[in-house]
Amino acid sequence: MARPLMDTYSPPDIDFERGEGAYLHARGGARYLDFISGIAVNGLGHCHPAAVAALKAQAETLWHTSNMFRVPGQIELAEKYCRDSFADRVFFTNSGTEAMECALKTARHYHFANGRPDRYRIITFTGAFHGRTFGAINAGGNPAYLEGFGPRMEGFDQVAFGDHDALKAAVTEETAAILIEPVQGEGGVRAVPDVCLRGLRELCDEHGLLLIYDEVQSGAGRTGKLWAHEWAGSAQPDIMAVAKGVGGGFPMGACLTTDAAGAHMKIGTHGSTFGGNPLAMAVGNAVYDELTRPGFLDHVTAIANTLRQQLSGLVDAHSGKVAELRGRGLLIGLKLKDGYVNKSLAAKAREHHLLMGAAGDNVARLAPPLIIDETHVREAVAALDAALGALEPQ
Ligand SMILES: *Cc1c(COP(=O)(O)O)cnc(C)c1O
Repeated sequence: MARPLMDTYSPPDIDFERGEGAYLHARGGARYLDFISGIAVNGLGHCHPAAVAALKAQAETLWHTSNMFRVPGQIELAEKYCRDSFADRVFFTNSGTEAMECALKTARHYHFANGRPDRYRIITFTGAFHGRTFGAINAGGNPAYLEGFGPRMEGFDQVAFGDHDALKAAVTEETAAILIEPVQGEGGVRAVPDVCLRGLRELCDEHGLLLIYDEVQSGAGRTGKLWAHEWAGSAQPDIMAVAKGVGGGFPMGACLTTDAAGAHMKIGTHGSTFGGNPLAMAVGNAVYDELTRPGFLDHVTAIANTLRQQLSGLVDAHSGKVAELRGRGLLIGLKLKDGYVNKSLAAKAREHHLLMGAAGDNVARLAPPLIIDETHVREAVAALDAALGALEPQ
């Protein structure tokens, strides 16, 4: 069955054929509550009517022209992103890792254009994940993702997550930028404290560095703010990569920058054939309009509080197996105790028709659609309770 595919994934033996709201329907009729939503992608749930209508209408009108020609949907969406964020400029991509590439290139090019091509080094953190292109695996620094792919790329300095002294010591005359996920996703669903984001902003200002946020997973309303860094108040970045939830399931991403950081990216410095194509922009605009509808993000915060409250009850009830609850808003991690395995918990949850994911550091990950209500929360918590009860030490 999987023969013609590269063996890069090992999916369970289920074929989903239909999605509706927070549920996925498998061939044969079984229904699953989707609390991972394509890894924090389907924020509006599956087949949201507004996104479906936008995609259908665009599919019957115009699919693709490339960036040789103006795509009005790009201007419309970029104006919305800039209206509601720190940003003045936007470059559209097809994925998170491409948004990261644009962010890294923009940071280096800023110093180059300012007469400091020697400032090219980028500081990153242990446990980071920025995608799978060469630039992104080198930025992420995960040895498992780098092994076998040739020499390490020059110019990335990784410091331990949370080690402030190491961070300060890592800043040199050659440093161009600091890159961080406001909530580490793949690395174990670890939220960076607000005070640390503000500290990073100050450190960058002090040394003339650019602050880059990777909000590919934490953005698009996932934490109850449009972008997770908004929780920290005055800790705005110079550059931000977004993807996953901004397309609601249609592949798209974007690199957002201030005028100062992005204005030097001129004709020929960067490009993409598909980035920001009319289909992606139709869906991206529809998704964004839903996320910014009055009350939407308040709902995310309220339902996230309800879910987290009930999950803390589960953590207490299964304290022999679960060490702690992590994350922010609807990006949630359950760190398991030694001897219990996150992937086994996800498999047990599946037996109870709940879909969840795994992250690094033996964390089980929940990233439900943002549109869930209390019925979904009750159903998920009951399934997880049963799955935790049945989880055996390994
Ligand atoms: C998923 C992810 C990426 C990579 O996005 P792709 O669309 O898979 O290329 C980058 N950064 C973070 C934080 C992510 O969660």
